Amino acid sequence: MENITVKDKEFEIYITSEKIQEAVRTLAARINEELKGENPLFISVLNGSFIFAADLLKKVSIDCGISFIKLASYQGTSSTGDVRTLVGLDEDIKDRTVVIVEDIVDTGNTIVNLVDQLNAMGPKQIKIATLLFKPDSYTKDITIDYKALEVPNDFLVGYGLDYDGLGRNHEHIYSLVSS
Ligand code: 5GP
Ligand code: MG
Repeated sequence: MENITVKDKEFEIYITSEKIQEAVRTLAARINEELKGENPLFISVLNGSFIFAADLLKKVSIDCGISFIKLASYQGTSSTGDVRTLVGLDEDIKDRTVVIVEDIVDTGNTIVNLVDQLNAMGPKQIKIATLLFKPDSYTKDITIDYKALEVPNDFLVGYGLDYDGLGRNHEHIYSLVSS
């Protein structure tokens, strides 16, 4: 398969669409089994997870809902640095099983912050589903319940993942060609 250029960088094929779909199917089957009767609310974290969330939800056959959020980053005024606030959640998640749907969990900073904010709203439980997981980079204690694929610490684009706002639209996942 041919390399692609995104903005000013060259990327090579890394995970084909077929492999992605197979991993998504396997993950959906686990969710169907383990969250049956829970009527979970899937919360897709935009922008990155939009394709994964759509493909995953097409394969989830139990009763469930879906909602979408964004995380707004602010330049911190104190030494805490980057603070990310949840925007757009209009559902009441009190006593509900929630499944966060992420494109990628890298260091885990984003997910830990998000889990803290959602926990403050009193859900029954929070599960985390991610398309990609970087085990060598992850530094947190929170369990990532549903990981479709584990990847090394390479920079990836495609299937929702961007490089500088570009490249989300590709059906395969690509990695940066080191020059
Ligand atoms: P964390 O907070 O877990 O360190 O990082 C999560 C965020 O970093 C992701 O939501 C994503 O925006 C970005 N990220 C981490 N690794 C990659 C990657 O390989 N490719 C792209 N495009 N974004 C990444
Ligand atoms: Mg993300």
